[in-house]
Amino acid sequence: MTGPRLRLGVQKSGRLSERSIGLLKRCGVGFGWRKGHLVVSSGDFPIDLILVRDDDIPEYVRDGVCHLGVVGLNVLEEKVYARGRRDSVEILRRLGFGQCRLSLALPREQPFENLHDFAGRSIATSYPNTLQSFMAEQGVDVEVVEITGSVEITPMLGVADAVCDLVSTGATLRTHGLREVATVLESEAVLIRAGTSWDPAQEELSRRLLNRLDGVLRALRAKYIMMNAPREAVAAIEEILPGLETPTVIPLGQDGKRVAIHAVAPEDVFWETMGRLKDAGASSILVVPIEKIIE
Ligand code: ATP
Ligand code: ZN
Repeated sequence: MTGPRLRLGVQKSGRLSERSIGLLKRCGVGFGWRKGHLVVSSGDFPIDLILVRDDDIPEYVRDGVCHLGVVGLNVLEEKVYARGRRDSVEILRRLGFGQCRLSLALPREQPFENLHDFAGRSIATSYPNTLQSFMAEQGVDVEVVEITGSVEITPMLGVADAVCDLVSTGATLRTHGLREVATVLESEAVLIRAGTSWDPAQEELSRRLLNRLDGVLRALRAKYIMMNAPREAVAAIEEILPGLETPTVIPLGQDGKRVAIHAVAPEDVFWETMGRLKDAGASSILVVPIEKIIE
């Protein structure tokens, strides 16, 4: 394909790779996989994937090597934002996967009351800038020990008093006798671009991609809900359903005493809501995922 193209930085191999490429696929942007290649072009949309370590993505985007990038907020924070360069990279969308948090943890037996307990202590982390700026904001002076991997074993080895590490369930910390005591940053995968502008054709491509992405993200969050109910319960049911447009009400049988109600819920429908619908008279409640939504 000739003409303008967008370069999108994505993690080559790791926790974010599959979901990033899966999300693009849902947007109608597929990639023929070639093992070992570092640049992969889509035949569906003028995008080239640049496959790199996640740590390099924020700087590649900031420096214009890539137009766009998918990276954990934790890495963006560490590589760009915590270095005082907030204007140089813009977050376009939160992508709803890769959720984790950067947490402070102490050996289990150590007492903890508040962040001032860390004063004068050494903390091992792979996120020195983020930790330093967080502690400075809190007015707590600590010694940051930068470690590139296996941060969780450092208190056991006597390398540091505490750790600041990425956590999703907390199981790894617990296995190493550590206790999570505070959250420094809540993270998920984000789509980023440089704070500078591109040529109009590339801006237009990015707008088209974002339109599709918004449809996909909305659909991933939304659910289609169907149920049967007595006609007189419709008003009560409409009130229970979370923030939706007027549902479709279809009479069932000849007398119209019972109806089927179909609606799009913008957010997931939880068990609690299902219970309330049942109490209001609904039965055969079905909640199904939505593939795409275009308004
Ligand atoms: P690379 O080789 O690209 O540098 P990596 O080892 O730094 O890979 P991964 O372990 O694949 O990175 O994690 C990538 C991102 O996934 C993290 O930066 C974070 O945003 C997210 N993530 C989600 N859950 C977790 C978790 N439990 N532990 C670590 N990272 C997680
Ligand atoms: Zn990395």
